[in-house]
Amino acid sequence: MSVSLWQDKSKTKDLEVQEFDIVIIGGGIAGISTAYWLIKENQGLRVALLEKGELASGATGRNAGFITCGSVEHFNRLVETHGTDKALEIWKFSEENLKLLEENIIKENNEKNQFEKKGSFSLASTEEEFTELKKSFELMSELGINVEVLEKEDIEKRLNVFGFVGGIKYKDDASVHPVLLLEEILSTFKSSKYFSLFENSEVFNIEQAGELKRVHTKSGKFDAPILIMATNGYSSQLHPYFSDKIYPTRGQVLSTESLPKFLEGPCYANFVLDYFRQTPTGEVIIGGFRQLKRDTEVGYSDEITDIIQEALVDFLNTHIPSAKGKKITHRWSGIMGFSADGQPMVGSIPSDPQIYFIGGFTAHGMGLAFNSGKCLVDLLFNRTIPEFISAKRFV
Ligand SMILES: Cc1cc2nc3c(=O)[nH]c(=O)nc-3n(C[C@H](O)[C@H](O)[C@H](O)COP(=O)(O)OP(=O)(O)OC[C@H]3O[C@@H](n4cnc5c(N)ncnc54)[C@H](O)[C@@H]3O)c2cc1C
Repeated sequence: MSVSLWQDKSKTKDLEVQEFDIVIIGGGIAGISTAYWLIKENQGLRVALLEKGELASGATGRNAGFITCGSVEHFNRLVETHGTDKALEIWKFSEENLKLLEENIIKENNEKNQFEKKGSFSLASTEEEFTELKKSFELMSELGINVEVLEKEDIEKRLNVFGFVGGIKYKDDASVHPVLLLEEILSTFKSSKYFSLFENSEVFNIEQAGELKRVHTKSGKFDAPILIMATNGYSSQLHPYFSDKIYPTRGQVLSTESLPKFLEGPCYANFVLDYFRQTPTGEVIIGGFRQLKRDTEVGYSDEITDIIQEALVDFLNTHIPSAKGKKITHRWSGIMGFSADGQPMVGSIPSDPQIYFIGGFTAHGMGLAFNSGKCLVDLLFNRTIPEFISAKRFV
């Protein structure tokens, strides 16, 4: 949101500039994960995190909570695009993301975070997609990835969903309550004397102040030698560098009232475009169908539209009889940051190297951002990071 001269309270009140070593902008899974690894680095750096709304008010608080491995496409396509070694590296990176979350954050607290590790499914509506999934299964099995093929009857029996010709199960995937997870990560360092959180602090301008970067919010200014933008889909609102690199893309979802348990685990359908799951408390969440209206499902507005919401209800009534006709309690949308190649972006702005950034998770931030935040901290301390997430690949 732009801020007028009159709305900028730092103009009329003589507010002091607050100084930090690092200022992070954005309180989603990427910003909080980056803060976690910075504090864990234990270098005595004073870190401030500025969030325009409340924590998790962006995509992190609006997603479906899948923690899945890999990326936006089936593994066979990942291999076709990148070759086997790189495809495996991408997969292993997200496996490591989950491992890091389990070891450092979730620990024994599965129930507290509504964390479940029951695997995830990719379901094919057509024989063509099932052929690709079986190809993926072969490739993945050869590489030692834990997958299983399901025939139509297995899907009907185990998942109680219908209209799919076959599928595969990624046996090590997980799901979580994304806001509880974020709060859990934050709780591990919130009381550190090196960390300060400023909610309701939208950054509307970044400028150079001598050697430092100065960040303006309506209620005050912040100076630091290093700035980290963890603003994902919103990044191009703040810096033009991102206008042809991270594309704001809307995703819509609905959820039902709580229903008796019928679904074995979270499911993707239709080449990872549509998805549904049942939470541990019984609600069915279903999202996707952006492909029906690609022209409107872009930009920064988190409104919902009839055409997509109706498609979600149709899908539910057609494929998930246990949820057919049940009460819809919530409908919402969120803004994702899509990168040009579907992989995350970690780096600094070449023309403005004091500004680092993390984003471009392309609908998979829950499976990527914790490890990506670790990589951003590695970059800050001159350690190497995987090439496929380095923003240098676009230079
Ligand atoms: C409907 C939907 C379903 C999804 N389902 C899944 C899923 O099941 N699994 C999965 O892995 N991923 C899913 N995703 C994608 C996932 O939510 C994102 O990849 C992830 O949350 C990105 O995290 P982030 O921290 O980078 O971005 P965000 O969570 O969007 O955080 C960016 C933050 O920056 C703040 N901000 C922006 N501009 C400013 C500013 N100027 N000043 C201060 N603060 C600012 C925003 O308020 C926001 O809180 C889904 C997304 C949507 C929308």
